[in-house]
Amino acid sequence: MLSQVAEGVLVHESEFCQSNAVIVHGRAGVLLIDPGVLGYEMAALADDLRELGRPVVAGFSTHPHWDHLLWHARLGAAPRYGTARCAATVRDRLSDPRAKARIAAELIPPDIAGQVPLDLLGLITGLPAETAQIPWDGPQVRIIEHQAHAPGHAALLIGERGVLVAGDMLSDVLIPMLDLNGTADPIGDYLAALRLLEGAAGDAAVLVPGHGSIGGADQVRARIDQDRAYVHALRDAHVLSDPRVGPSAKDGWDWVAGVHAGQLQRLARRSERDGTPG
Ligand SMILES: [Zn+2]
Repeated sequence: MLSQVAEGVLVHESEFCQSNAVIVHGRAGVLLIDPGVLGYEMAALADDLRELGRPVVAGFSTHPHWDHLLWHARLGAAPRYGTARCAATVRDRLSDPRAKARIAAELIPPDIAGQVPLDLLGLITGLPAETAQIPWDGPQVRIIEHQAHAPGHAALLIGERGVLVAGDMLSDVLIPMLDLNGTADPIGDYLAALRLLEGAAGDAAVLVPGHGSIGGADQVRARIDQDRAYVHALRDAHVLSDPRVGPSAKDGWDWVAGVHAGQLQRLARRSERDGTPG
């Protein structure tokens, strides 16, 4: 089911991990951001859009993680974009012929693995570095690129509609997940990204996280603050009080506590190794 979050901006929430696909109406068709996860959901979305007479004219993946890189043949053959770094990362990872099998076996939860079509995974075109907007015939969509969570991660600001599409940040259910794969300063990168979002989109009226609930204007600031507090707690080894971790987590999200424990462990190992925090 599609719900409208602002004029000409619709969201489809997946059964998997409260993943949000975002549809933006343009002149000749729609821009589809992070299309979804389960094959039948993407097919239904494609059918809904066809019925509305709104073909997909462009796609965008916010970052190079499998759940943001999927596509369904029924969505058509529109160009699918990402930042240059995002596309390069995807290309690099998929150049290993075993990559898809590994994603299916190790990253996708077994209960949905059979329902996630991987044939069109990651076929994205990198926009030249520093591209400020998605090239398409519709409302301006500004690209806010940063290095938190994944290489070449982009948040998108649809200024005329007051909508911030945050990718995998600013979630009410997921904690900040740092990119700990060979990055020099994951905590610094995350804090820099939060500052960037605060400066660029602090007055957005609607917030759409990659996973979790849609937020109103008050939630943009509140979730920036909450994510920053989490990252500060990681950095300073403070005791954490975050509603997303522990007994106050929403139903079905208790695994986030394990993600938190894993991050603590990996950060501790890093600082042991090079004597620096984070
Ligand atoms: Zn995600």
